[in-house]
Amino acid sequence: TQPVPTDAAAVKAADRAHVFHSWSAQGLIDPPAVAGAEGSYFWDYDGNRYLDFSSQLVNTNIGHQHPKVVAAIQEQAARLCTIAPGFAVDVRSEAARLIAGRTPGDLDKIFFTNGGAEAVENAVRMARLHTGRPKVLSAYRSYHGATAAAINLTGDPRRWPSDTASAGVVRFWGPFRYRSPFHAESEEQECERALRHLEDTIAFEGPGTIAAIILETVPGTAGIMVPPPGYLPGVRALCDRYGIVLILDEVMAGFGRTGRWFAADHFGVVPDLLTFAKGVNSGYVPLGGVAISAEIAATFEERPYPGGLTYSGHPLACASAVATINAMDGEGIVENAARIGEDVLGPGLRELAERHPSVGDVRGLGVFWAVELVRDRRTREPLVPYAATGEANAPMAAVTAAIKAAGLWPFVNMNRVHVVPPCTITDEETKQGLAALDEALTVADRYAA
Ligand code: PLP
Repeated sequence: TQPVPTDAAAVKAADRAHVFHSWSAQGLIDPPAVAGAEGSYFWDYDGNRYLDFSSQLVNTNIGHQHPKVVAAIQEQAARLCTIAPGFAVDVRSEAARLIAGRTPGDLDKIFFTNGGAEAVENAVRMARLHTGRPKVLSAYRSYHGATAAAINLTGDPRRWPSDTASAGVVRFWGPFRYRSPFHAESEEQECERALRHLEDTIAFEGPGTIAAIILETVPGTAGIMVPPPGYLPGVRALCDRYGIVLILDEVMAGFGRTGRWFAADHFGVVPDLLTFAKGVNSGYVPLGGVAISAEIAATFEERPYPGGLTYSGHPLACASAVATINAMDGEGIVENAARIGEDVLGPGLRELAERHPSVGDVRGLGVFWAVELVRDRRTREPLVPYAATGEANAPMAAVTAAIKAAGLWPFVNMNRVHVVPPCTITDEETKQGLAALDEALTVADRYAA
């Protein structure tokens, strides 16, 4: 056996020797060495403890190392580590029952994947086969994953160079009042114009060519933009009118993140397909999936579904999902996320916005918030330009460093700090994080008018 490294230098050297990292120029990165994690914290080998306001990649909704979930994985490993997807297994059926019991409406069949991108791939395949139509509409300012179809559906040009086969993808603008593509003056106007733009897009693409519209219920990575109340019901109505499948991507927003089991619950909307991953088991073992409506499931009642994965419904992943969902229920974790958002995090962030000239906007729900940093509140000029790198990104790099120096681990994208702690975060931890953010924002203020 290999010796287990016990100091940061050895861990980093071992990483640099053979690990190839995501989204990075391999020679320009210095991945921090993590020694352990528990609850809302993780720590390194040099005695630094970080309050995890990123939930890693917005997935550890129940925090790190939840004892009941760790035990469930250990127990399942002792009983049955793996089995092919073609068998009936108690733990997989129970995970599917618990998920189907929480997804909205009649989304009662669950196809399991290993993560979010595969869930999107399969949802799109189901929609195309169900409708017999080729195109899928997706929003600019979105993220749907890094596999072939998912990355092309992603509305972020930084992602496209990794795959150029965007056949059948048509992008449109969703509503976003702070940087409105529709020049709207009210929330209602933004909603109405966004829906009109979507209906025009459908008309000019040809409704009979469109299999699906895919939307993040609340777009996450692209900026946590809670849609106006009427928007998703309006999209649902357009889908019904034109026979288009509505796919809601809840990979990031689902499983408690917004203070409800699913973000769709805030808007009273039932999609035809719902993709999930991340929070379903807090990422303790890779798991994602698609929740499927009765009508789409019926399409594959007599006709085989042409898709599958060796690890679909993996027993260790399913055991961790069962334990996670039961813990979330038993410990009121979704309710905690809602309460923290309403009583502590939302008011606290709004208060920071009042005092810091660099804060242009704060927005969110539950434990799903974005702080948008600007040079000038009046013009809304972002603190750094879109997709800035190197020198151009220096202000955000300085703010990020200040946040980390204050013992807080943020999720940073473009000119935004996303405040996305675990759903289990306490009042005290939230206040501690807000205080750290308060201190670090003075760095951003130096660049702001
Ligand atoms: N969809 C959304 C909304 C996401 O936020 C993500 C990941 O951040 C994905 C899909 C892709 O999930 P994964 O990275 O598990 O493939």
